[in-house]
Amino acid sequence: MNRVCAKDVYIMTEEIQDNGRTVHSIKVPTSSDLASFNFYLVEEEGQLSLIDAGINSGKCWEAFTHLLNCKGFSFEDLERIIITHNHEDHVGLVDRIVAKRNIPVYVPDKSIHRLKRDKDFFRMRIEFFARLYKEMGCGEAGEKQIRKLEDAFENHDKKRIQADLTPIDHETIAGLELIPTPGHSPDHLVFLDREREWLFGGDLLIDHISSNALVEPDREGVRIKTVLELEKSLKKLRSYNVQVVFPGHGELIENPKDLIEVRLDGIKRKADKVLDHVKNGVETASELAQTMYRGKYESQFSLVMSEIIGHLDYLEGHEKVTKEIRDGVWWYRAI
Ligand SMILES: [Zn+2]
Repeated sequence: MNRVCAKDVYIMTEEIQDNGRTVHSIKVPTSSDLASFNFYLVEEEGQLSLIDAGINSGKCWEAFTHLLNCKGFSFEDLERIIITHNHEDHVGLVDRIVAKRNIPVYVPDKSIHRLKRDKDFFRMRIEFFARLYKEMGCGEAGEKQIRKLEDAFENHDKKRIQADLTPIDHETIAGLELIPTPGHSPDHLVFLDREREWLFGGDLLIDHISSNALVEPDREGVRIKTVLELEKSLKKLRSYNVQVVFPGHGELIENPKDLIEVRLDGIKRKADKVLDHVKNGVETASELAQTMYRGKYESQFSLVMSEIIGHLDYLEGHEKVTKEIRDGVWWYRAI
C-alpha cells in the first residue's frame, strides 16, 4: 500500500494503490460534526469510477475538478458514478458531473423514489411522520416539524436529481461486491473489494462519530426499525475481512473490527440509558427525548426523536421493554 497526500485550503486528497487499482480520496472539510464530505475516485486500467458525489457546493466541485486536473484526468475518463445512499451529502455533484459527461449513475434500488422526489411517496411520508409524532406524544413540537416538512415539500422539484438513475441490481459493480447495509438509511449499500480487503463504507462506519439511524418509512409506509437494522448491518460487516474502510466522512479506517465493536457497544449503552429512564417512569418517546436531550428537543427535533424511537425499538427487539397504546399515544414499560 502506498500513500500520497496533498493538502490545500479546501481539500485533502489521499491516494492508496494496490495491484492495479488506485483510490483517490477526496475529502472536503466541513465545520459540522461530520468533519468532511468524502468521495472516492477509483482508477483501474485507465477507467474511473466515482463512488459517492459529495454535497452540492462550490468547495466540493472545486475539490473534484482540482483532483481530476492534478492527476491529469478529464471528464472523458469518467465511466460511472456509484452511490451508497440517497442522502444529499452523497449525491451532491451528480447532476453537475452528468451535465459535463453523460455517464451512468448507479444507485441503490431503494434510492430512486427518494432521489426522484416521487410526490406520492413524499406526501405519504409526511402523513407517516404526522401520525408517528402524535403516537409518540410530541404535541406542538411534532406539529411544528410537520409544517417544516410541508414547506420543504413545496420546494421539492428543486431537489430532484435530474440525471437518469440506474438501479444497482447486480451482485457486483466495477469489480466491487455490493452489500446491503440498511440502518443509517433504508437504501444503504457498501461496496467491497474482496481481493484488496477495501470497503467503500458510505455512512455505515465513521471513525469519529457514531452514525445515526434516522427513522423512515419504507415504500409502503411501514416504519423501519432503523437502529435494529444498523446493529444487524454492523454485525454483517464484522463477518468480512476488511483492512481499509473508505468512509463517507472523517478519516480512513484501518482494521475496523475494534471500531465496529465500539459502535455496537455504543448502541447498547445508549439503549440502556433510555431503559433507565423508562424504569424511572419516563414512559413516552416525547418525554424521554425532552428528559435526555433537553434543549435539543426543540432545535434538533427530528434527530432527537429518531434517536429515542430507534433505541426504544432496539429495547423492544431485545425484549427489554414492551409498549401499549393509550389515548393514541404509545407508553413504554420495562419488562
Ligand atoms: Zn453522509
